[in-house]
Amino acid sequence: MKEQRKTQKLGESITPLGAVPAQGSVVAKLKAMRGSSGACGVKTFPNNPEERNQHSGKSVQELRVPVLNMRGKPLMPTRPQKARKLLEAGKAKVINRTPFVIQLLYATGEAKQDITLGVDSGYKTVGYSAISGTGELIAGELELRGDIKRLLEKRRAYRRGRRSRLWYREPRFDNRGRKDGWLAPSLDHKLQSHIKLIEQLKQILPITNVIIEVASFDQQKMVKPEISGVEYQQGELQGYNVRNYLLEKFNHKCAYCGKKDVPLEIEHIVPKSRGGSNRVSNLTLSCHDCNQKKGNKTAKEFGHPGIQKQAKQPLKATAFMNVIRRKLVDILNCGWTYGYITKHNRVKQGLEKSHVNDAFVIAGGNVEGEGQKRSAAICKGKEVRRQNRSLYKANLLKGGRRKRNTVKEVGKFRRFDKVIYKKVKCFIYGLRSSGYFDLRTIDGEKIGAAINSKKLTLVERARGRIEEVKRATSSTTEAVDLFAFC
Ligand SMILES: [Zn+2]
Repeated sequence: MKEQRKTQKLGESITPLGAVPAQGSVVAKLKAMRGSSGACGVKTFPNNPEERNQHSGKSVQELRVPVLNMRGKPLMPTRPQKARKLLEAGKAKVINRTPFVIQLLYATGEAKQDITLGVDSGYKTVGYSAISGTGELIAGELELRGDIKRLLEKRRAYRRGRRSRLWYREPRFDNRGRKDGWLAPSLDHKLQSHIKLIEQLKQILPITNVIIEVASFDQQKMVKPEISGVEYQQGELQGYNVRNYLLEKFNHKCAYCGKKDVPLEIEHIVPKSRGGSNRVSNLTLSCHDCNQKKGNKTAKEFGHPGIQKQAKQPLKATAFMNVIRRKLVDILNCGWTYGYITKHNRVKQGLEKSHVNDAFVIAGGNVEGEGQKRSAAICKGKEVRRQNRSLYKANLLKGGRRKRNTVKEVGKFRRFDKVIYKKVKCFIYGLRSSGYFDLRTIDGEKIGAAINSKKLTLVERARGRIEEVKRATSSTTEAVDLFAFC
């Protein structure tokens, strides 16, 4: 009797809804209540039915323009046509260009629906997607900075060099301290960027629920996986959990030959035919060839005695996974989910792997049947350095002259400003006092190495981030301005 109850509980816990209880049911209910909305007739951009939405595999797509009320609080987003009419009638003004946001100039009622924001947190790239019951309202990805550690190390080296050259200083003692919860600057940047992004999205959309993916697998669910028996074939979802666990443990490569980027199979270290168990401690990943070659041998007999030991060691989860994402959930007091559930749902819906698609699925989105229409555009952002505050170049010029390190502003332009050059929107990567700039797209593609600033039109200032709206349909680097008339 007791035994049965136990298995029932376990069974419950491996269904997707059991794992993430809150958001899934809310979205489903909303969908059931509302049915399809009047938004299905939207025929804006792109107007070509041949173009299939790359990230949903369907031709249905929509665009929404975030709207603020007179007091600056977010309302439900509107359709681009409506936004255009409001602007032309002088009933609204533009607040932000990328992403495009308008503010109403007259008082309105507030009809709010539930909006769930899904965040695929990451070390390099963050994906986000906000959905209502019927559609995806905003989707995008944000690339985080990866240069902080290098820059700080450089600064430290310069300081050391300089101070060793300077006069004698009295030794200082114990004058450094780190507060509780201190994070390395590079990690702190990632945490703060996540928070900033979510707060900014909350300012333009009436988001009611935030869900973050905290880790790729649920360690708790595997209850000390190295020791206790977890049947890896316990349902499809549990299979994903174990697989993600093994991928992280064996660094996404074949445990025997070290091959990467090949399909990996779950492999028994001691073969089942020789009494090996299905416990996670007896599992590893191998490519198809190695799996075949190994056949009926144990890993030790196959010439890899270390693997058994590695499989039994508890996994040292990466610092980012454990610290940042958990902290984020604490700070934002939001819901969370696991990567294996995301992957399960994404594969089930036939979506390709991308940060935006993951975020969409995390938010509880569904492209099938009565689900959400995907956004026709993706907002692509990149965190950039605001200022380089070194006064002088580290190395002296000939004759011991010191050269100024950077200029902050040339003409009216600053580093990473969005400009138009020959009808192409790009960013100032290299700002030079000569007035000839290095222009590139957000992906770093070169537009011109030395372009006269007189030929440039300023579009948008960079405020620690450069942003571009792209079509969700094409993989080209072509950027689109949705509202060229503004
Ligand atoms: Zn192999």
